[in-house]
Formats: sequence, C-alpha cells, structure tokens
Amino acid sequence: GSTIGILGGGQLGRMLAVAASRLGLKCHVYDPAPDGPAAEVSARATTAAWDDEAALTAFAEAVDVVTYEFENVPAASLDLIESIVPIRPNRRALAVSQDRIDEKDFLRDLGLATAPYAMVDDAASLDAALERIGAPAILKTRRFGYDGKGQARIMAAEDAAAALAEMNGAPAILEGFVEFSHEVSVIGARGLDGAVACFDPGENRHEDGILRETTVPARLSASQRTDAVLLAAKILTELDYVGVMGVELFVTPQGLVVNEIAPRVHNSGHWTQDGCLIDQFEQHIRAVAGWPLGDGARHSDVVMENLIGDDIDRVPEIAATQSALHLYGKAEARPGRKMGHVNRLTGPAR
Ligand code: ATP
Ligand code: MG
Ligand code: MG
Repeated sequence: GSTIGILGGGQLGRMLAVAASRLGLKCHVYDPAPDGPAAEVSARATTAAWDDEAALTAFAEAVDVVTYEFENVPAASLDLIESIVPIRPNRRALAVSQDRIDEKDFLRDLGLATAPYAMVDDAASLDAALERIGAPAILKTRRFGYDGKGQARIMAAEDAAAALAEMNGAPAILEGFVEFSHEVSVIGARGLDGAVACFDPGENRHEDGILRETTVPARLSASQRTDAVLLAAKILTELDYVGVMGVELFVTPQGLVVNEIAPRVHNSGHWTQDGCLIDQFEQHIRAVAGWPLGDGARHSDVVMENLIGDDIDRVPEIAATQSALHLYGKAEARPGRKMGHVNRLTGPAR
C-alpha cells in the first residue's frame, strides 16, 4: 500500500512517519489527542475518539494498511478497521501483548522461560499466589501498564494489602522476582513473506521503571546472543507476525527469561537509527507495506540515552557534542515524560 494508517500519535508514530516519508509513502495518523508528535510530520491526521465509528471508517477507507504505535486501542475499533483494511501486526499479536496473563501463557506454551506467575483478583487469590510464588514478588495490573506504572513490589507477605490497594481493583498478575544480572532486548522484524531479521540485542538500564539507556553491544556470550535472537524469531513466527516487535529479556545464570513483548517499534531499538543502515522504523514500514526487509546489520557501537522531563534542558549542551539528537517536539516537559533521545557512537561495531 502507499498510504499507511497509524493508530496512536506519539513519538513512535512520529518516527514511523518520518521513515515512511523517506520511502515515498504517506502516513495518516489517528489519535484522540490533537497535535501530537506524529501528526505534525504526517500527510494527514484525524483527531477523534477510539469509538467514533464514522471517523474510524473514513480513516480506514483512506489508507491501504493500518499499523499501530499504541497497544491499547479498543477491540471494537479494531474490528471496524479490520472489516475495511488489513491491520499489521495482526490482532492475535496485539491481544497477546495487551494482557500480561495471556502473554505469559503464550510464552510458556512456546516453551520459553518466564517469571513464575499467578492471576490475582482479590485478597484471597493474592494470598494463594504469594503462598505458591513467595516473596519478593511484583504485583502488576494485567492491562494498560507502561514505564513501570501499575506495579507494586511485595518484599514480604505484610506488603500484600498495600500492593493490592495500588491495583485499584483492576485484574492483576503476581510475578516472582527474577534475580537477573542485567536486562537486554531484541528488536525483531518479520516480513509479509515470513522472512525474519533481528537487530543485535541491546542492554537496557532502567531508572524508576523507565528506560534510561540502551547500549550495544549488550554483555552476552555468543550462545546467549544466539538464544536471544532465536527465541525472538520463534515468537514472531508463531504469531505469524508482520512488523517490528520488542522482546524484553532478563539475563540470569540459568539462561534468558522473557519479561514482556511489545508488538511495535520499541524505545530500546532507537539506537538503530544511528547504528544501522536500516533502522527499526524503516524495517517496520517495509514489513507492513509488504516490502522486503532491509539489512539491519549494526555498523557501530552505540549508547542511546533517553531525554526524560527536565533532561530536555540539556539539549543545547548535547547539541554541541558529537551525537545524534532525536527530539519529539513536545511542548511541555513533565516529570517522567519522554522528550527525546540522543545516540552516541562509541566506535565501529566490535
Ligand atoms: P515498559 O515501559 O517496558 O512497557 P512496563 O510498565 O510494562 O514497562 P515491565 O517491563 O513489566 O513494565 O517492568 C519494568 C521493569 O521492572 C523491568 O524492566 C524490570 O527492571 C523490572 N521488573 C519487572 N518485572 C520483573 C520481575 N518479574 N522480576 C524482576 N524485575 C522485574
Ligand atoms: Mg510493558
Ligand atoms: Mg518493560
């Protein structure tokens, strides 16, 4: 298709639209909020609610394929869109990654390692889950969590009631605490023809639940690197996936443990913009547009740093250094808000 519909108008949508534009493709963004980062770089933007049937229909009729940068589009909106135009990545990939229990069940059924987990709906099920999994553990809402929001640590049984209160009655999952040495992610892509290409794994450092920095190459042995890429490929193929996916992993002495998957371009893949000939955004656009995947081989070692909240004040200083700035054009710098990122090349790929 030559016009790509993007659901969600944040910075991921913005960078997808820029990549599409470089390939001569047009983007049409749909987002309930006006004037987001994606709208100002797209050929068209629709500002309408997720349940506005007339707006959704007009949007779907104006594009050749629909993708998304935001996972929590309501199912009914997707049903309507899908009756008119293909959605890539497909609905199953989206459904699996929208719910942490479905996600873990899917990964476990694929034979992949996850944290021990149990469903939690109330105090009784939390007690039973803690009995089985033990502390320390993390209680998370099943849906809608990001940047560590909707999570509460349970260091000992007496923290249970307070953690449950933080869920505000939402269905939850208890996860056993994984004793990892560090965190890595694989950004994988699968084309319409079934070809799979993964970027080199990156090593991720989080602060307060938010990604702070990604470094490539990640500290991984050759066999861990192979495992990481193979497990990502297995997930993509099992889902008959088309597009780019982020797979977050914990590195443990017992092997790689999958934390979560994101059915879209991923913050930990932003280093590819300056470390690879073809970055994750172009790779995603190529996949959903039915093009062959590009060559995502890494040519440089990179450190990607997120600019969060007041970090944006450092831009003049960063601009004077040898680095690539990517700013999202957001007017207001709130605490915890991702304003941009900077890629620093640290040498030719080792
Ligand atoms: P994202 O913005 O990546 O979508 P999220 O809100 O979905 O974040 P998670 O990735 O589930 O949150 O958790 C955020 C971070 O908390 C992880 O990267 C990891 O550092 C830590 N964490 C989450 N689950 C576990 C666990 N079971 N054991 C140990 N640490 C964990
Ligand atoms: Mg997440
Ligand atoms: Mg995460």
